[in-house]
Amino acid sequence: MATISFVDVGQGDCTVVVDDYGDALVIDCPRNRHGAALAELDARGGQRIGAAIITHSDEDHSGGMLDLIEALSDRFDGLLFFNCDSVLAMPVIGPDHGIAGKRRRALINRAREYRGRVRDARSGVGGSLNEIHWKLLSPNVDELLDALADGDPNLASGIVFIGAGEIDVIVGGDAPLATWERAAGEIPEGATVRWPHHGGRISSSNHLQAQERLFDILNPKQVIVSVGSSNTHDHPFRAFFDARGSHGAKLMCTEATKKCVADGVGRPCAGTIRLGIHSNGSRLEADAPDFLARISSFGNAQCMPDAVDPD
Ligand SMILES: [Zn+2]
Ligand SMILES: [Zn+2]
Repeated sequence: MATISFVDVGQGDCTVVVDDYGDALVIDCPRNRHGAALAELDARGGQRIGAAIITHSDEDHSGGMLDLIEALSDRFDGLLFFNCDSVLAMPVIGPDHGIAGKRRRALINRAREYRGRVRDARSGVGGSLNEIHWKLLSPNVDELLDALADGDPNLASGIVFIGAGEIDVIVGGDAPLATWERAAGEIPEGATVRWPHHGGRISSSNHLQAQERLFDILNPKQVIVSVGSSNTHDHPFRAFFDARGSHGAKLMCTEATKKCVADGVGRPCAGTIRLGIHSNGSRLEADAPDFLARISSFGNAQCMPDAVDPD
């Protein structure tokens, strides 16, 4: 039916969905990593990219999307979804407000090339490929206001639900716990979840309680973390691993961090993670051919023992 690829882009997120007919959508792409997204689209046979969705304006989600759709040229024949979330809080003309400001202005200016094909990436917006449908569960207007007030794009992060037959997948952007709480009624339990914020901060209060609460809301079948081994934010948090450990959902990470291997820098783990969806079920697989041997060698892999027993 389709393959959903959680592309190894280091510290950032990029999800590529390609169905059996060559129709595709892309959710997020970090700066300087559009080549990885393009390679995955090519490898999976993505011919027509009908939607490019930016969950929020942080660079590790938004920074490479315009490069990607420009490289795709005519293969991108669909709509570009993004919000002027925190971008609105930053002057887009006038004096320079640093590199981040320049880059966000560039995003806005380049998005204008797609005039008529740009849409708000807001709660309730959705679309479909042939047998797959997707829908944004956030942000709503309140969440956009929060992001503007605090200057924090994560507060307005999109959460993307993808339904393929019996299989539910959730791509969590960097959405905070408050957003998951608000959208809980629309969130199916037992999904495959690309965990929000690379396993890092989702609440300003107790991190362990917040992560445990999110596991309770989602009751995920399996969890994917897209993380860079050399990230300086300490992602994923210990609290995430502890909450996952007590909940028990299967876990795979794109790259290893110091929580799993002492010299975590530069270490891939599963690499790109692919969920193959067929009429009779789904299967999660690591791109790294020696994945099981690799995590065994780490000494303290946090995905053990679940990852050595793929279903
Ligand atoms: Zn973010
Ligand atoms: Zn992020």
